[in-house]
Amino acid sequence: MSLPFDKIKVLHVASEMHPIVKKGGLGDVVGSLPKALRELGIDSRVFLPMYPSIDENVKRTFKRMPYKLYLPLEWRVFPAFLWKTDVQGVPIYLLEIEEMPFPADVYPSNLNLNTIKPFFLFSLAALELEKSARWRPQIFHLHDWPTSQVAIALKWHMYYSSFSKSYDTVLTIHNLAHQGIIQETDLMPWGISKEAFSIDGLEYYGMINLLKGGIIASDAITTVSPRYSWEIQTKEYGMGLDGVLKKYNSKLRGILNGIDYSYWNPMTDPFLPAHYDIDNISPKKECRKALLARCGWGEDHLPVLIYIGRLVEQKGIDLLLYSIESIVGHGCRLIVVGEGNEVYEQSLKEASAQFPANVFVKIGYDEELAHLMYAGGDMLIMPSYFEPCGLTQLIAMRYGTVPICRAVGGLADTVIDADTAHDGTGFLFSHYSSEALLHAIGRALGAWNSPELWNQIVRNCMSADFSWSRSSREYAKLYLELLGVSDFRSF
Ligand code: ADP
Repeated sequence: MSLPFDKIKVLHVASEMHPIVKKGGLGDVVGSLPKALRELGIDSRVFLPMYPSIDENVKRTFKRMPYKLYLPLEWRVFPAFLWKTDVQGVPIYLLEIEEMPFPADVYPSNLNLNTIKPFFLFSLAALELEKSARWRPQIFHLHDWPTSQVAIALKWHMYYSSFSKSYDTVLTIHNLAHQGIIQETDLMPWGISKEAFSIDGLEYYGMINLLKGGIIASDAITTVSPRYSWEIQTKEYGMGLDGVLKKYNSKLRGILNGIDYSYWNPMTDPFLPAHYDIDNISPKKECRKALLARCGWGEDHLPVLIYIGRLVEQKGIDLLLYSIESIVGHGCRLIVVGEGNEVYEQSLKEASAQFPANVFVKIGYDEELAHLMYAGGDMLIMPSYFEPCGLTQLIAMRYGTVPICRAVGGLADTVIDADTAHDGTGFLFSHYSSEALLHAIGRALGAWNSPELWNQIVRNCMSADFSWSRSSREYAKLYLELLGVSDFRSF
């Protein structure tokens, strides 16, 4: 008996979606999960803001829908256009509000009542969308604070709360560090009733916390790995919301992210000079050669360590910086691509100037270099302080690059330590210190010096399955649960 997935209509309301707009892992997830859900038969679609920075070539594929939407805010109404496109069979809607453009760089650099307004209107537009799209979702799947406002409006908006029985809401927390906190306390002019500003609502130490409101108002909450779902209920990782998450943990569950295996595929990746898979790994050497050449180095059989990601405290960049001298001392190459905190950017640049023969740093976002690094690297370093899921280690494994990670959140859920299991896929450490990171790197180098063992670990990585096939079913079952279809648990 097959599950009645084809009865489900879900709209992903999100601030990013690869390949239209991506700042990090959230963009990857919204770019791949809706497609995986469609493969199960679910009518899943995506709703995005029309950022002014979207590439002109991409914009040319959009078609404007004939009917305008009208969105109420501060005693007036904002007209808005809905645009439609299609990415690999997934219908995408985009919202354009001429009188209130979305931030050029996706997220406002400074959160306040004014900078948040476009996202608030965007959330109201999700509830109005059916009037122009001629399509009505049953479930709103919300992602992080920018769209948690859909659930907030359904619970506390003086007009939209009357629709609350017509829809179910799922809020996925991709990163609890971003909560959408603003200093103001009064959202009455936005139509949000006064009672929402309370301890059991949006109030947070005398300010407004949009993620907290979303957690309380949504019908279900998910995090992007099972371990992160209980870590965030602790003081250490709860970012001030551990109490709220504990209180509402009956509607909280962790569903591991997947990656799009058709995009992240070393056999077909258009950014690579040579292609390989688990049956023929040797062309990976060609990618390594091209990567070394890109850094201005020749081949010399030294282990190549890579770091790809945002340069922020969360990612354990301090540990990486403290370890660089020892990494070089161990005779390794280190290649870093990332952007973020200026202090980290500067320190990394200084390290590459100090060790030009061993350390290469590219500050910025570079999709092409990242692909070449995944394929040409030997080991990926990910010493995160906390990690909701982490996609970088999943991509690295797919490309046969062995992760060295701190055992937190999704890293602990996805990497198996190779010193403790025959099906090991990487090297884990627990204590947040550069000594612990270096110890793990030392163990990885020990394995690297034993080609047969190393080859086995690389093969274990490449045969691990982190495609969406399992996790998309978990979401589909959650949707059925919300819709009241009760006979699915045995599947
Ligand atoms: P985050 O916390 O940023 O969401 P994830 O590991 O979940 O981290 O996802 C990061 C995604 O962004 C991966 O697809 C990674 O390849 C990509 N990425 C991050 N920084 C860069 C960069 N500087 N250049 C290219 N790709 C990057």
